[in-house]
Amino acid sequence: MSATTPGMVCAHHHLYSALARGMPPPPGTPTDFGEILELIWWRLDRALDLEMIRWSAMLGALEALEQGTTAIVDHHESPEAIEGSLSVIADACAEVGVRVVCAYGVTDRHGPDGAQRGLEENRRFLAEDGRGLVGVHAAFTCSDQTLEAAAGLAADLGVGVHVHVCEGTQDADAPGRLAGLAREDWLLAHAVHLPTEAGLPGTIAHNPRSNLNNGVGYARPTRFDNRVVLGSDGIGAAMLDEFRIAYLCHRDDDVTATPETAWSWLEAGRDLVPETADDEVTWSYDPLDPWHVAFTPGIRPLRVVVDGEVVLDDGRPTRVDADEVRAKAAEQAARLHARL
Ligand SMILES: [Zn+2]
Repeated sequence: MSATTPGMVCAHHHLYSALARGMPPPPGTPTDFGEILELIWWRLDRALDLEMIRWSAMLGALEALEQGTTAIVDHHESPEAIEGSLSVIADACAEVGVRVVCAYGVTDRHGPDGAQRGLEENRRFLAEDGRGLVGVHAAFTCSDQTLEAAAGLAADLGVGVHVHVCEGTQDADAPGRLAGLAREDWLLAHAVHLPTEAGLPGTIAHNPRSNLNNGVGYARPTRFDNRVVLGSDGIGAAMLDEFRIAYLCHRDDDVTATPETAWSWLEAGRDLVPETADDEVTWSYDPLDPWHVAFTPGIRPLRVVVDGEVVLDDGRPTRVDADEVRAKAAEQAARLHARL
């Protein structure tokens, strides 16, 4: 018995974090989300070079495909390897056969020059017909000038902005600072602490597993009028898993919740990459509906067709050798971990 659906979309990912697993422990135990950023992610992203970025994207794209995810909306940062990084990610995903929407997360954490170089990487990639959004790390690490420049660049290029909003309490100023800049085509990741009445336009990417992992709280996405989609925030791209966790978090908050709400968030992700509607994923289980999937762990794709091409057959990728990708990624992970 098997069911076929369109491709799944991971609406907020960090492909660069694919090599983080097994990294050495931080110099101290982080005690809140701000320290998790400083002691883990902001050390990791500074250690990345283009070769590591390439193999993290190859591995992340492979793992997405193996879970029936045919499109990734990525948010990238590598302050010591900015120029060309988005093309490296786009090329790696294309090689595996997965669609990607790239963004470079602009920030003033590394001074105004770093912010300028991040903006320029977004501009270069999009001007060269790359598929993407303009990335911004988060309002709390950007000056007003940088936020305005990113919003202006996105408007000029006819794309939205992909930005973390109110993931933790340190970003409390974001609604006020982004009001007047945000538009309907923006993608707002997390919104855990975004006040319901803030009224920011855009799509909200809900990342329930990551939010649990960082202990930042539950976003309660049903309170917003915005479109809600699901992301992994860098923890793989297994969207049926994300759906199950989204349902459980919703249910934990409200015992009358049904899986249909989280399923609607999963399906809304396709609005961000409409071509995925024509992709075909054949699953190991039938029927693939919210009530079945919520209570059936371990459903996996048998065959995936992207843009008319079979890219996963009998559970194995057709365009790349999965063992080779994993071996190369492990070599780059060892280099990355040594730098940390
Ligand atoms: Zn994120």
